[in-house]
Amino acid sequence: MAKSPQEEHPQKAFGWAARDSAGILSPFNFSRRNTGPKDVSIKIMYCGVCHSDIHFVRNEWGFSEYPMVPGHEIVGIVTEVGSEVKKMKVGDKVAIGCMVGGCDKCDDCTKGLESYCRDTILTYNYIYHDGTRTYGGYSDWIVAEEHYVVKFPDTLPMDSGAPLLCAGITVYSPLKYYGLDEPGKHLGVVGLGGLGHLAVKFAKAFGVKVTVISTSPSKEKEAIESLGADAFLVSRDLEQMKAATGTFDGIIDTVSAQHPLQPLLDLLKNHGKLVMVGAPHYTKTEKPLELPIFPLLVGRKLVAGSATGGMQETQEMIDFAAEHNITADVEVIPMNYINTAMERLLKGDVKYRFVIDVANTMARLN
Ligand code: NAP
Ligand code: ZN
Repeated sequence: MAKSPQEEHPQKAFGWAARDSAGILSPFNFSRRNTGPKDVSIKIMYCGVCHSDIHFVRNEWGFSEYPMVPGHEIVGIVTEVGSEVKKMKVGDKVAIGCMVGGCDKCDDCTKGLESYCRDTILTYNYIYHDGTRTYGGYSDWIVAEEHYVVKFPDTLPMDSGAPLLCAGITVYSPLKYYGLDEPGKHLGVVGLGGLGHLAVKFAKAFGVKVTVISTSPSKEKEAIESLGADAFLVSRDLEQMKAATGTFDGIIDTVSAQHPLQPLLDLLKNHGKLVMVGAPHYTKTEKPLELPIFPLLVGRKLVAGSATGGMQETQEMIDFAAEHNITADVEVIPMNYINTAMERLLKGDVKYRFVIDVANTMARLN
C-alpha cells in the first residue's frame, strides 16, 4: 500500500491543503524528501495567491488530485544545499515559480523553455520523478532542484516580489516572444487582475503604449494614475469598443472566465496578435471559448497562447523587475485568511494580488 503523505518522505512539512473540489483549505501535515545532491531546501517566506490556485483547488480544469497544497509564487531563504549545488548557498534569497522539474533533455528543456516540456512537473498537483506528489508553496518549506530555483534580487521586497514568479513571467514572456515589447507598439491588456496589472507595468517599462480593456469601470482611475496605463476601455461599453476598432498591434488576454473573443479581434489592426494567457474553466462538460475565423482570415490576425516562461527567462524577468522597480500591488494576508481571500479574488476584490505571509503565520499543528 502507498505510504501516506505524512510518511512517504523522511522530513516533516506543514501546509494548508484542499481535500476535495469544494476547494476549502485547512491545515495539513505531510513530508518532503531529504536535500539531494542537486537540491536546494528553502524556508518559505511569502507565497502569492494566483487565480490558477482557485482553478486547481476547485478542479475547474478537471485533473485535480487531493489532498492538494497549492502555491507557485514562492519566495524564501535557502536553508540547505546539496553537494553538487553551484549557484546557491545557505542564507540566499531565492524563488520558485510554476515548475519544479522536467525531462531536462527535450528540445524545449535544452533551449531553456522548460515550461513547454511535455514532462514538465508543476510545483503542485503533479507527480515528481520519484513517483510522489508535488506540494506547493502554501507550506513552511520546500525542496527543489537548483535548476528550477531562481535567485531573488536583494533589492526587491520579498512580499510584493513573490507574484513575479507566476503572474510576472506569464506576461513578460509572451510580450517578448510575440514582439509586443517594441517601443511605440499599442498593446491591450484584457483583465486588470494579478497578471493584468503586471502586464501594464512591464509593457510601460518596455516603452509600449498600453490600453487596459476591463469589465470594471471602477478600475479606470487607478489604472491610469497609479499603474501608468495610457488609456482604459470598458469592454461592455460597445461605443467605446467600436471607436477603438483596428487600433491595437497586440492584445494580451488574462481573463480567468468565459468571455467573447470577437470584440477583441475587432480591436486588432490587420496582422495583429491576440495572445491568450488566461485559462478559463474548461472541463469535459464545459464548452471551450468560441473562436470566430473570419476576422482571422481577412485581417491575417493571429490568436496564440503562452504558458508561463522558462527558467532562464524567469531569472531575466526578475532581474529586469529589480532594475525597473517592478513589483506587484499586494495585500499581505495570514495563512488562515486564505479561504476568504479566494472568495474575494473570485469577486475581483483585491488590488491586485494576495500574498500569504507564510513565515509569520504558518503555525504547525504539532
Ligand atoms: P485575477 O487576478 O482574478 O484576474 C483576472 C481578471 O479577469 C479580473 O481581475 C477581471 O478583470 C477579469 N475577469 C474576471 N472575470 C471575468 C469575466 N467573466 N469576463 C471578463 N473579464 C473577467 O486572475 P490572475 O491570477 O491574474 O489569473 C488570470 C488567468 O490567468 C487565470 O485563468 C489563471 O489561471 C491564468 N494563468 C495562466 C498562466 C499561464 O501560464 N498561461 C499562468 C498564470 C495564470 P477586470 O475587472 O479588469 O475585467
Ligand atoms: Zn499562477
